[in-house]
Amino acid sequence: MDYAIISSMKDFRDELLDKFVYYTGFDTMSDPSKVGLRRPTTKGQEVLLKELERELKALSIETTLNDDWALKGLLKGNSKGRTIAFMAHVDTADDVMGNGVKAQVIDYKGGDIRLSSGLIISEKDNPDLRDYVDSKIITSDGNTLLGADDKAGVAIIMSAVKYLVEHPEVKHPDIEVYFTPDEETGAGMDGFDYEKMKAGVCYTLDGGREGEIETECFNAATVTVRVSGVSIHLGSARGVMVNALTILSQIVSTLPQSESPEATDGRFGYYSPLEMKSNGAEGVLEIFIRDHDDEIFNYRIEAVRKLVEAIAFIYKGKADISTSVSYHNMAKINSMDPSAVNAIFSAASKLGIDCYEQIIRGGTDGARIAEVMKISCPNIFTGGHNFHSLYEWVSLEAMNKAVNLILGIVENGD
Ligand SMILES: [Zn+2]
Repeated sequence: MDYAIISSMKDFRDELLDKFVYYTGFDTMSDPSKVGLRRPTTKGQEVLLKELERELKALSIETTLNDDWALKGLLKGNSKGRTIAFMAHVDTADDVMGNGVKAQVIDYKGGDIRLSSGLIISEKDNPDLRDYVDSKIITSDGNTLLGADDKAGVAIIMSAVKYLVEHPEVKHPDIEVYFTPDEETGAGMDGFDYEKMKAGVCYTLDGGREGEIETECFNAATVTVRVSGVSIHLGSARGVMVNALTILSQIVSTLPQSESPEATDGRFGYYSPLEMKSNGAEGVLEIFIRDHDDEIFNYRIEAVRKLVEAIAFIYKGKADISTSVSYHNMAKINSMDPSAVNAIFSAASKLGIDCYEQIIRGGTDGARIAEVMKISCPNIFTGGHNFHSLYEWVSLEAMNKAVNLILGIVENGD
């Protein structure tokens, strides 16, 4: 392995700051209610994707923006080796307002950060801030999220490819970059051109805390329960009426509360009823199932099926269950080809970046790629914290480390 060029940390901070703040100015909040109706779910994402396409073209990178708004850039290599992909998403979550972001660049001197809205990002709740005294922290003004999830990832990838274009002396294989819409709605990969992907490994830049490398995520399924009962005038209901709402409520209350998202962490999976609609005669219930372990994941799906059948049987209603698996734990694929994760740690140790593996209680778009393409897709930190909230912040130092890490991985050739 030759680290002739990328052996020491380079300084991308000014460029990263410009890019990141610029991208946060695009209104790209996605809209889960538009999934299946419009792609991307919001117009602003199109605007940013077009801008990224323009920037890639200006760097003479071959681009394709497909009909489903997945943007791909191909930077031709100057050395052999399997193609490496990097990916980030352009949309921001809708948990709090994500449009009209006014990024604030703070020369952090320690202590709490008071946002202009009056909200306070406290040092007590954010002990990681202590690592960034005398460096730049970026926040929103407290009226919106910041959008470091995942515009920090976009800025990191764009800075890295720009460096590679401007430094042809750095040897690297073909590099694909992907920018996708609607990750936060779960529809991010619906328009992805898997068949055109050549990469043998893909790194998503969609992680948080500095040093965190996510290699394992949940298995995720949604179980949809449809119940039909028997409706009749309530005055003569005795012995005849079968109330679908009662059946669904029984199902919900029988799910173990100790195995809910609010009662679990680490590797404990859960059942989470999230939506129930009923008019008494019929009804529908959605239950999210999550678990890192394949066997327990399948057990949970089976347990819900048995529970629904038993309760519907007791109440003499009819129940129909359908299960849709959203993604699988990428750990298996990542460990089948450990070279992707090894490349991160090898580059990190040369650059003096402390990295550690972390499991996610969620999924990444990389998990979908891992599943379809059978290639490793670890998720690399962006330096962002408190995602999907008004308290979101990102460290410019951590973003700079992530760019260096990408370059280290690329030059390593894996
Ligand atoms: Zn994200």
